[in-house]
Amino acid sequence: MTKIAFIGLGNMGGGMCANLVKAGHTVAAFDLNTEAVAAVAAKGARAATSVADAVKNADVVVSMLPAGKHVLGVYFGPDGVKEHAKRGTLLIDCSTIAVTDAREAHVQADLAGFIMVDAPVSGGVAAAEAGTLTFMAGGTALAFEKAEPILKGMGKNIFHAGGPGNGQAAKIANNMLLGISMIGTCEAFNLAEKLGLDAETFYRISSVSSGQCWSMTSYCPAPGPVPASPANRDYKPGFAVAMMLKDLHLAADAARSAGAEIRLGEQAERIYQALSDLGLDGLDFSGVMKDVKGEIPRA
Ligand code: NAD
Repeated sequence: MTKIAFIGLGNMGGGMCANLVKAGHTVAAFDLNTEAVAAVAAKGARAATSVADAVKNADVVVSMLPAGKHVLGVYFGPDGVKEHAKRGTLLIDCSTIAVTDAREAHVQADLAGFIMVDAPVSGGVAAAEAGTLTFMAGGTALAFEKAEPILKGMGKNIFHAGGPGNGQAAKIANNMLLGISMIGTCEAFNLAEKLGLDAETFYRISSVSSGQCWSMTSYCPAPGPVPASPANRDYKPGFAVAMMLKDLHLAADAARSAGAEIRLGEQAERIYQALSDLGLDGLDFSGVMKDVKGEIPRA
């Protein structure tokens, strides 16, 4: 099938890379962490020794990196993709980064003769492993057409969100709503409980009423109603406070530059920042329930 270079084999990238191998592609994989490279090599990828080694024969480069500076560095920095990949290579960055960084990457890719899509994902580590991620891609119609068959090897729902950077725009707007709805869901369950309803009773009513949302029915922050949710394992992630805070910072920055008012988004950012400041970066983001219930001691 296609010759793919995969760069960034962490919590998400490891599973995504393995799924591309499973889909029949020839994959050369690279990460700064050699254990992560060995893990995907055991699943059939070729262990590359550098970005240059990974991309030298690739038709497509896929990346899943922590933040914008890593993405711009890996693609356009010294000894990066730009220096070593052949012109016309399709670049698919799946990391969650600032809309401005994504658009900068598109401009640089275009100038260097590459085709690019920003294709951030919704869905966590389990979806990355199962190949059921949602992708929201930004780029030209032609770039999306080329990227779609590759993305299908790693995901279930693939959307073209529009031009360069629109994938990241969709991702941060969605995740800002997720942060807000999670805090609201915690407050609703806490209020119901204080007024005499147990979590199961409130869930049975609200999950089929107008307050229903994903934070409630798929990821309920109150222990009990949704067995798979982190609330039933003392809020072990899942999707950690640090990750939610990263996305809320990206949303706040983007809103400032676009002149969009996000009063609740900024309030959600302050609430998650306070948890982070208390050293709770590793708590699942639904653990804001503990804060709402007054169970997190403050100095
Ligand atoms: P991670 O930290 O587990 O993985 C990132 C990997 O990139 C690491 O293995 C690191 O060694 C590697 N890396 C960093 N710089 C590199 C470089 N210069 N060259 C090669 N490799 C390099 O992070 P993750 O949880 O896999 O998340 C990756 C991206 O996906 C982030 O942008 C995150 O916001 C986004 N995301 C994560 C989740 C989630 O649930 N974890 C969900 C949706 C989106």
